[in-house]
Amino acid sequence: MEKKKLAIIGSGPAGYTAAIYAARANLFPVLFEGFMTGPSGGQLMTTTEVENYPGFPNGILGPELMMNFRSQSERFGTQILTEDVESVDLSKRPFVVKGTSTHVEAEAIIIATGATAKRLEIKGAGDKEFWQRGVTACAVCDGAAPIFRNKPLFVIGGGDSAVEEAIFLTKYGSRVFIVHRRDQLRASKIMAERAIKHPKIEILWNSVIEQISGDQVVRGVLLKNLQAEKFEEREAGGVFFAIGHQPNTQFLENQLKTNETGYILVKSGTTQTSCDGVFAAGDVQDPTYRQAVTAAGSGCMAALDAERWLSELEEIE
Ligand code: NAP
Repeated sequence: MEKKKLAIIGSGPAGYTAAIYAARANLFPVLFEGFMTGPSGGQLMTTTEVENYPGFPNGILGPELMMNFRSQSERFGTQILTEDVESVDLSKRPFVVKGTSTHVEAEAIIIATGATAKRLEIKGAGDKEFWQRGVTACAVCDGAAPIFRNKPLFVIGGGDSAVEEAIFLTKYGSRVFIVHRRDQLRASKIMAERAIKHPKIEILWNSVIEQISGDQVVRGVLLKNLQAEKFEEREAGGVFFAIGHQPNTQFLENQLKTNETGYILVKSGTTQTSCDGVFAAGDVQDPTYRQAVTAAGSGCMAALDAERWLSELEEIE
């Protein structure tokens, strides 16, 4: 069993930023970057151009940005393990982190495992079909891409995210359709009203997309009205899933307090979780902003919180 001051779990902007700060503070962190659970680097690995990360006026490719994060964390001595964390034991200190092949004892832990945007298994939406060729789960990340310009765009979902993404997409699409499976939006009243009143948005109630079609990119969707049991083909330039995110916390086995949808709860204005010495950063604790730059910011906060907590511990012991 390796003994460490700090273990970081997760390798998106939050995890790597935490590692950069922790390594520079001589905490000699070990970072589990994942392997089977998804691409190391997190959600940006499945994006193309990132145009809203500050510091890159001409944009940067998502995977390139994350490789830069990774190298920067290694430069200061982060030990990176390319394996998944299967479980953690937070019942006593040092905490135990069990990776697929490495077990680590750590005085403090930063959890930065992110959240996964939920996708639907619609015909045409798969990885080898139109996923990332017109089908995406993040309008803010991908919406400005040229393939979506002046095309009819379809957002699936009825919550605040669906409305927010639809409004965002009105800047680019010729028209934006919200495809919702019920006859009432789940979104807050104020957001719902904005969507309903927006001249470029149309809500397709009681509807689902049955199939996505195209050539190199998305060209059309087959819609189904669930009440009338009627099908209709429409021209489409893009399909955006906005049906919620699932925070990646399964390996924690309920050892930390979460909200009702599974996001880790942190003490307001900090990254401190319900367990002393365990910190959470990035999308795994953020149902609201979910941006690379906010994740990176909270990764920095988690490293600073962990560093302070470890020094107080050393003073006591
Ligand atoms: P959400 O509130 O859980 O809404 C998910 C939507 O997707 C629901 O309308 C749901 O339909 C639909 N959906 C789920 N599974 C589906 C499926 N299999 N097929 C078709 N539709 C499906 O998620 P969210 O919109 O991402 O919001 C998450 C949280 O973040 C919420 O608390 C929200 O208020 C907050 N948020 C706030 C803002 C803001 O204030 N600016 C922006 C974004 C998010 P049903 O309604 O039929 O269940």
